[in-house]
This record gives sequence, structure tokens and C-alpha cells, in this order.
Amino acid sequence: MEVGTDANPLRVAIIGSGPTGFYAAEHLMKRERLAVEIDMYDRLPTPFGLVRGGVAPDHQKIKTVTKAYDRIAAKPNFRFYGYVEIGTDMTVGDLRDHYHQIIYCTGAQTDRDMGIPGEDLKGSHAATEFVAWYNGHPDYRNFEFDLSQERAAVIGVGNVAVDVCRILCRTSEELAKTDIADYALEALSKSCIKEVHMVGRRGPAQAAFSNPEIKELGEMADATVCVLPEDAELDPLSRDKLEATQDKAMMKKVATLKEFSRRGSNGKSRRLRLRFLASPVELVGDAAGQVVKMRLVRNELHEQEDGALRPKPTDRFEEVDVGLVFRSVGYRGVRLPGVPFHEKWGVILNEKGRVMDPDTNQPMVGEYTAGWIKRGPSGIIGTNKPDALETVNCMMEDLKESSILNPSRPQPEAAEEMVRRSKPDFFSYEDWHRLDECEMARGKELNRPRLKFTCVEDMKSALGR
Ligand code: NAP
Repeated sequence: MEVGTDANPLRVAIIGSGPTGFYAAEHLMKRERLAVEIDMYDRLPTPFGLVRGGVAPDHQKIKTVTKAYDRIAAKPNFRFYGYVEIGTDMTVGDLRDHYHQIIYCTGAQTDRDMGIPGEDLKGSHAATEFVAWYNGHPDYRNFEFDLSQERAAVIGVGNVAVDVCRILCRTSEELAKTDIADYALEALSKSCIKEVHMVGRRGPAQAAFSNPEIKELGEMADATVCVLPEDAELDPLSRDKLEATQDKAMMKKVATLKEFSRRGSNGKSRRLRLRFLASPVELVGDAAGQVVKMRLVRNELHEQEDGALRPKPTDRFEEVDVGLVFRSVGYRGVRLPGVPFHEKWGVILNEKGRVMDPDTNQPMVGEYTAGWIKRGPSGIIGTNKPDALETVNCMMEDLKESSILNPSRPQPEAAEEMVRRSKPDFFSYEDWHRLDECEMARGKELNRPRLKFTCVEDMKSALGR
């Protein structure tokens, strides 16, 4: 019988409930003449991936994007199975038995390292861990960061690095207006941090942060942003490039940094020092194994064959005292058991979203991927919409060719029965709605947008389980 009709709807499993998972669901639901039923799985009880666990708490407006996801989830052909981990509670094989098509949208759950000595010292952390901690991710709530230190460094100058710097530099009054986890608010309100160094290996023109984000650094209540005039100056190669390309965004970025370099001291209690053309080569520890210094090498830029300007170390070094280091040099995808993975790139092996079998170099029938686990950790939330569309287009082409899985139990009740058997305490979207209301009510009492549940047991008690 034809699949995708009212009599025999296309059954799709989406793994991961971040923005990409919802955009993929939306693209499928909008297809004309397609009857589709979507089951979305997440290993956490709560949906929305990095919108809940990654977007900075002081960027509340960005989080309103979840209203659109709620509308998608409200459709009768959508179901959410939270707190069900594929690879642990259920296997990819289980999915193949129940669905015609599967889309992996698991994002990039871990970090890249810098590969330098001392990276494992006490006080050296992945920015991803700190981000997950202050956002109340249940797996990270018990992490500890020594905020009794006065000096911290954030390595990398992408938007995640900027988020981390802001959270370290904001006052408790600023943070209290956000949905930051309650334990993080308490720890940060006692923070002794006075100085944060944000270190870029290339120059100001190549910095990965975007303009609104960098501008915001200059608007913090009690932290001054400092750029050395020589650091704000472009090297000859960057200057030539900027003149040739007339790149408006880049010009604005450089102008903002120049303006920062002209600002005087204004009596604020914290300093955020933006550094460029420097790379850490070692983190130095004391006898107790606690990081106390970072050793930096000064870089120069050189032009590659493809025209890109890359950093090249010089023989000039410097040491900076720091007791806390966050490497923010990019996220990395995690292998999903049973799904082909490219170790070096940290993504699922795929072509335009079709998962590829490494042995045959052919697409794996019925298996797809979208978002960061497909293309790597780049772009903003909205970038995932066209990315998911590319994948859904491939799915529709394959459906037309009847190149889909042949599940032995395609009925929705069979999938529900499998979930109930494997994970009886799963969370539905209804459960999420109740948790959401509870979090907002708890927040309202404190004049905060929401007070998050950060451990699964508390979520269960709130639901009266
Ligand atoms: P990113 O934008 O790729 O930035 C990574 C940074 O790490 C770059 O400055 C990179 O420098 C540096 N880096 C990489 N390897 C390094 C090394 N070995 N040593 C020193 N520095 C190194 O990644 P991200 O900040 O993790 O952000 C991920 C994505 O999420 C980005 O697309 C970002 O825009 C997005 N995001 C957006 C927002 C927002 O819109 N507000 C907030 C957070 C994240 P090079 O450039 O020299 O490689």
C-alpha cells in the first residue's frame, strides 16, 4: 500500500527536539498531499535543545522562538517522547522496526579541545560545560567552577565565548532578571572574578563574534571592556582584505573594537580584556594541579592559497595569571550508537542529509540527518531551517522512489508500546506544558521570567509522580 496517504501515513522518527528537529517536523507537515505522523524523541525530559540549554539566559528574546515550536507540537500528528535516549533506552534497530524514515538532529553535545599541555588542570573547563551548568542542564548541575578566582580567561572569540564572558562579568542584579539556573545565580553572585581575558588567535577583522553581540559587551552595568589600541589596529593583510571586500559587517566590528580601545577607565569593578593575535600554548599549574597561568604566543597572520588569513606563531611569548580557563573553540557532535560517524569532523556521515554507509558509500535507506550533527556547529538558530529543508527534500525524493524502510510494526500504538516498555517514565508534551507553567509561576514569584527545574526528580515531583 502506498505510504504517505491517509490510509497509510508516513511514519517519521525525529531524534532530538532542538530547533532543527522542529524545523524538520514543520517542513514535513507543510508538504502537500503527504499524510505524515511524527514522533520526536529527546534524551532530556524537556524539549528545545540549545534554545533551553545553550542560548544565554540574558538573551530571553531569542528564546521566544519556542512559541513557533509549540504550534508545531500542537498538531494532532505530532508526539513527543522526552527522557528517552536512543542508544540506551532504545536502539536505532528499534526505530527501524517502527518508522519509515528517521532523522537524527542530535546537535553537537560536546566541545573541541585545544590540544595543549595543562588543559586537564583543575580550573580549566570547556565553555560548553559552563554554558550547560548556568542554563540548568540536568547533566551539568553538579559541576563546580571556582569563582573564588579573580582572573579568568576565555579562549576563542566566537559568540559562545562572548556569552561566557558576559555571564562572568554581569552583576547579580543583571542576572536575576534572567532564567539562569538558581544555583548558578547564587554562585555567580558570590563571584570574585575581577578580570576576564577573551583571547582570539587571529585579528579583530577575523573574529567570529557578530556585531550585536560585541556591542552588547560595551553595555554591561559594572564591567568595562578594554582593547589595547595596538590590538584594535589591523595588520596590513587584513587592511588590504577589508579594502578589497568592503565587507560592511567586518568594518562595523573593527570600528566597534576601535571605539572600545578609546574608552577610558570608568570606575566599573570588572574588566573584560579582548585580546587578539595570541594563542595559548600551555596552561601552567601549581603543586596542587590548579591552573595559575596561561602561556601565550603572539601570532602573525599569513595568507593561505585559498585567500584565508590564518595565524602563524612568532617567537614572542607572554604569561598571564589566570585561575580559571574556559576553552570556547567550538562544539563537537557525539556518535550515536549504530549510526555512521565521521570522527574527525564530529558529524554523521551524510550527503545533503542522507546518512551514508561508509562501507558501500551509498545512502542508508530511510536514515537522514539535519542541523549541527549534519554540517557541524555553525550558524544561528534560523540557519537550521533551510538545512532541515534540504534533508526533508531528500526524504521526499526517496519516498517517491519508495526507497524507505519497511518497518514490521508501523502502527503508532506499536511505537507507544515500545516506549512504555523501554522507558515507562517518559515525558510527553503535555507533561512539558505543565512543567513550563510551573517554571513560569515559580519565576513570577521572584520577578524572574522562569525558575527552571534542573533535575529530573524535581520534574517528576512537580508532575505529582
Ligand atoms: P565559532 O563561532 O566557530 O567560534 C570558535 C572560536 O574558536 C573562533 O574564534 C576560532 O578562531 C576559535 N578557535 C578554534 N580553534 C582554536 C584554537 N585551537 N585555539 C584558539 N582559538 C581557536 O563557535 P562558537 O562560538 O562555539 O559558536 C558556535 C555557533 O553558534 C556559531 O555559529 C555562533 O555564531 C553560534 N552562536 C550564536 C549566538 C548568537 O547568535 N547570539 C550565540 C552563541 C552561539 P578562528 O576563527 O581563528 O578559527
